[in-house]
Amino acid sequence: MEKVYIKEKYSCSKIDSYLRPEFIYIPVDSSKYLVGDYIYKNDMIMDNVYSPISGYVRENIYMDIDNRKTNCMVIENDYKEKYQSNNYIFNKDMFINSLRSNNFIDIYDNYDIKYLVINAIDIEPYIFSKRIYIDKESSSILNIIDNIMHKLNISKTLIAVTSDKLYNNLFNHIGTYPNIKIIKVDNYYPVSNNKLLLKELFNYTYNKTSLEKKIWILDLLSLIDMEGIIKNNIPKNETIITIGGTGIKSTCIKVKIGTSVKEIINYLGGYKKNYTITIGGPFTGKQINSDTIILKDVKAIFVTKNNSIKEKECNSCGKCIRVCPVNLIPVFIMKNINNKNDLYKLNIDKCIECSLCSYICPSHINLNNYIDKAKEVIKSE
Ligand code: SF4
Ligand code: SF4
Repeated sequence: MEKVYIKEKYSCSKIDSYLRPEFIYIPVDSSKYLVGDYIYKNDMIMDNVYSPISGYVRENIYMDIDNRKTNCMVIENDYKEKYQSNNYIFNKDMFINSLRSNNFIDIYDNYDIKYLVINAIDIEPYIFSKRIYIDKESSSILNIIDNIMHKLNISKTLIAVTSDKLYNNLFNHIGTYPNIKIIKVDNYYPVSNNKLLLKELFNYTYNKTSLEKKIWILDLLSLIDMEGIIKNNIPKNETIITIGGTGIKSTCIKVKIGTSVKEIINYLGGYKKNYTITIGGPFTGKQINSDTIILKDVKAIFVTKNNSIKEKECNSCGKCIRVCPVNLIPVFIMKNINNKNDLYKLNIDKCIECSLCSYICPSHINLNNYIDKAKEVIKSE
């Protein structure tokens, strides 16, 4: 695999916050709450879904989530942040159960975790959410890690970073935590993918057998969420997203989960007409309209000029094959798009949707579209 390094032309220096949305939109299949009911902050709406505000349920409407119309409960903020005490008393089993029920123990569901790996690398270039948080909150991040290590008897934590200067504060604060180590990894894209990251870390530090079934890899933003679980058994319900692109004021902003994209854009002064809004960064962003909401997995909103570069014929240069981090053959996927048997053999399920193949293609072929289509062909009867 040929590594691809992207040089960012700007950085982010501060975190804005918009934590007083007028309404919160919560996707619901069914709920015990009806229009007119009062909801306290942190009340559970459905399994693992908590209200980030207090206020009245006003209506149920359809919002556009992942380009699908989805039923959402609308809570009007009364700006009182009222909550009911849940008398949470911490013990290890409750903590583990709470982590499981909030989908936190993901790669190795093993009680006996020896190594915690914090993935502090932003998901793609020009997304600064993790780096800016580290820059501003290094000390409290180390504190949360230390707390978790103590509660789960974890002996060693590795924080994976790159050489970006926004990590400098972390190095300044690490002195008093002998069991937490910061490891700088090669800053290629997409090293933030958990599997690639573990590969990098193995080479740097430990051998694979010693780690088998004893690693727990955790995203930095999930770690921050966990602070809420430690304190009162409820995830934080806030997230930091990057706002970028030439059609809007660029920043990093802390928002409540369930805030509408429209409200955030208005708060930032609107966006340029005839520009396109995407959820996700320059590589993996998917076009949306502003009638959608911020869910936990949203890391960025970009507003960019419509790209009208024309696709040309494939010139068989092989670049898409050389850069694919999981050794797929994107050009073959494209050429065999209607041949289900061949598609099976091309291991499409291993694609991590990084979009490097499309980015690198000199003929500007949108190979992503072919990969999406191939996945559908394989699924079809
Ligand atoms: S999007 Fe998939 S096929 Fe293309 S480079 Fe990334 S992993 Fe490979
Ligand atoms: S990078 Fe583009 S032009 Fe080159 S082989 Fe792949 S699809 Fe063809």
